[in-house]
Amino acid sequence: MSKHAFCFIVRMCASSYMNLFVMESEFEELKKIVLKCNACELSKTRNNVVFGDGNPNGKIMCIGEGPGYYEDMSGRAFVGKSGKLLDKIFEASGFSRNEHIFICNIVKCRPPENRDPKPIERETCLPFLLKQIELIDPKIIILLGATALKGLIDPNASITRLRGSWIEWNGRLVMPTYHPSALLRNPKLKRDVWEDFKAVIDKYREVVDPKHFCKNH
Ligand code: URA
Repeated sequence: MSKHAFCFIVRMCASSYMNLFVMESEFEELKKIVLKCNACELSKTRNNVVFGDGNPNGKIMCIGEGPGYYEDMSGRAFVGKSGKLLDKIFEASGFSRNEHIFICNIVKCRPPENRDPKPIERETCLPFLLKQIELIDPKIIILLGATALKGLIDPNASITRLRGSWIEWNGRLVMPTYHPSALLRNPKLKRDVWEDFKAVIDKYREVVDPKHFCKNH
């Protein structure tokens, strides 16, 4: 290899390392701010803010509605029944939170009795989610359920109408699908969600890793 080519590669590696470093410190700064937020009513009844979990360098972001009981108690996203089902779907797709996915919610604090977050609560929390998206820079965003779809894309959108089709949003690819809690209530919806995840696997191979391994698809 020529000295020129070697220097070029070293510079490229150093620059992506620096970018990663800057992103990681900004991400930690954001997390500190979010964990102290008192901007809406939900902060009065929460036990913990749930910032999000998984790999912030992953190329897929998964967005749910808001923390439930177990998430509020632990400060971790999707650790209850819905989260366990979601992990099974990730595993069936060859994805994991450790490697491919960062998972968070439209609102970072639990709505009392798991009611839907109010529009004002969604809007107040939205800048945090938008900053997470900017820093993580995912290639693919999966929206879990109506609240995520309405909160990020359009307050009038319908999940039954839009699930399963790609939406282009701010230059990113977005796949809306049903929330795992809907699958727990109605297992017949699992078939649709698997179709949606197959589309995500195909897209991941197209835009991120052509060698992505999934034994089921
Ligand atoms: N449901 C959600 O939407 N998010 C969680 O973190 C847990 C359950």
